[in-house]
Amino acid sequence: MVGPNGDVHVYEPTPADARKLSAAKVVFVNGLGLEGWIIRLITASGSKAPIITATKGITPRDMMSKGQIVPDPHAWQSVANARIYVANIRDGLTMVDPAGAAIYDTNAKSYLAKLDTLEREVKDAIAQIPVDRRKIITTHNAFGYFGDAYGMEFIAPEGLSTESEPSARDLANIITQIRTQKVPAVFLENVTDPRLMQRIAEDTGAKIGGKLYSDALSEASGPAGSYIALMRNNVREFDTALTS
Ligand SMILES: [Zn+2]
Repeated sequence: MVGPNGDVHVYEPTPADARKLSAAKVVFVNGLGLEGWIIRLITASGSKAPIITATKGITPRDMMSKGQIVPDPHAWQSVANARIYVANIRDGLTMVDPAGAAIYDTNAKSYLAKLDTLEREVKDAIAQIPVDRRKIITTHNAFGYFGDAYGMEFIAPEGLSTESEPSARDLANIITQIRTQKVPAVFLENVTDPRLMQRIAEDTGAKIGGKLYSDALSEASGPAGSYIALMRNNVREFDTALTS
């Protein structure tokens, strides 16, 4: 519903979305507070479709959001959790369409095998990175499950807003933070001024990483057109930033 490169946290649903929901036979949601707007939208649409929560059965980790501890909704960032999503989606489809059970089961098995391959790739790639360099600053605090599952530390930048370009003071803070915490790489999605990026890199020696895809996919033809491509893209970016 949100679409490529969209922001699921603050998505503003359209009347067309409500029509899609009222026509749906089943609705899949992530849950864990990711898409707070969807329950209101489902109610407003008059939909009677069953709602399947894809994260059902996942052990949530805690994260800080606006000064409060909340469940971290980005559970798909661990491939082990993605397997649980697949099982929940298979079961949801089978419940609303029992005649298709065999097909859903076959497709789920085939996708789970791909996830096994993906998880081996992720673990192998992280193993290439020296343990003391597995530390990254990202503006979007979305990689906690990845960090827990694969042994990487993701640090939130101090004093950086995700909405606006940093001030000189913000910049000084982040430079201090990179130095004191000895962070080898930073991914600053909200900093678009190449001169600022260059100054951070020159002043700290930290590598400025490429584009990460945390929540939304890219366009189908882009570098993160599917879940598996998204995970591969990010691991490649982490590897490039931390091993060179
Ligand atoms: Zn997010």
